[in-house]
Amino acid sequence: RRPARPHRDLVSTRTDCCHYSAEPSVRVMQWNILAQALGEGKDGFVRCPSDALDWQERKYLILEEILTHRPDIVCLQEVDHYHDTFLPILGSLGYQGSFLAKPRSPCLDVAPNNGPDGCALFYTRARFSPMATDHLRLSATMLPTNQVAIVQTLCCRATGRQLCVAVTHLKARSGWERLRSAQGADLLHRLRTITCRAATCTVDSDASGGLSEDLPLVVCGDFNAEPSEDVYRRFLSSPLRLDSAYKLLSSDRQTEPAYTTWKIRPSGESRSTLDYIWYSHDSLSVETLLDIPSEEQIGPDRLPSYHYPSDHLSLLCDISFRERRHRLM
Ligand code: NDP
Ligand code: CA
Repeated sequence: RRPARPHRDLVSTRTDCCHYSAEPSVRVMQWNILAQALGEGKDGFVRCPSDALDWQERKYLILEEILTHRPDIVCLQEVDHYHDTFLPILGSLGYQGSFLAKPRSPCLDVAPNNGPDGCALFYTRARFSPMATDHLRLSATMLPTNQVAIVQTLCCRATGRQLCVAVTHLKARSGWERLRSAQGADLLHRLRTITCRAATCTVDSDASGGLSEDLPLVVCGDFNAEPSEDVYRRFLSSPLRLDSAYKLLSSDRQTEPAYTTWKIRPSGESRSTLDYIWYSHDSLSVETLLDIPSEEQIGPDRLPSYHYPSDHLSLLCDISFRERRHRLM
């Protein structure tokens, strides 16, 4: 019998000093959902009961978590059930999806497997029309790597506002910090090109205006990097003027959560902050964040579990467009 899904509060991050738009905000989810083949065949989650990893059960927990919050944009990593599960189900619920497999997915080393894992990006068709989709294989100092990103440029049907959203999953494991940093540099470079690209967007109103401005950007990812790593600093100091949404959950609004993944393998327990939602802080503001479950809620066997279908926690925030006259330039 499945226990009740643990409750997570939506926390307001509004402050009196900011001017918030009257337009509806955009709800964004970031989640490494744990590839089925890796969870069963490679990860070695020794404290997770094997039936909690059964796909026929686990898929409903993943879908339940997504559909509880009904994000406008869903960014996922380690998706190895795109064509048979997420595309048909989310597609029938009003989402448009895009998937990019890793060139050489480690899922393919597991028998049986359901094909390669990769990144997936979904957005609601009612809210957004697509403008461009870029499927990127990340490079490191000119050499192609095994990591990918999807960049989706969208136009809000009601307001004509344009938004660029990216999803990525950088190289895992310690010892690969320089590769992650180089992959981050490549992604930032390519995002700069994409967000500067002249775009046209057919809208009823004139609200889009200002096409000479860079597109507001949201980058979701499992960066496999703690905030102390080079790739994190690169994102924070990039000319794209990005900030990390989840810092706003802390009392000083400057500190990342203590963990976004927490697991026990034969090698020991590992608790780390690896997942982020980056946003253009000049043109966007974060209004709400889904809080991080406490150690007690996660429980002594950590993740995944009957309660939590992945070893990574989902991140979710509501992002609004800053009014032009209040923009921080
Ligand atoms: P990564 O090192 O980026 O890791 C791939 C996955 O493994 C991630 O989803 C990661 O999850 C997970 N992972 C991280 N740590 C562990 C761990 N301790 N135990 C189990 N799983 C873990 O892999 P790459 O994309 O660079 O691919 C490497 C794999 O791909 C190799 O293992 C090999 O099987 C295969 N490969 C084969 C090639 C060939 O020519 N034969 C070439 C390239 C790759 P998370 O992000 O959640 O930490
Ligand atoms: Ca993983």
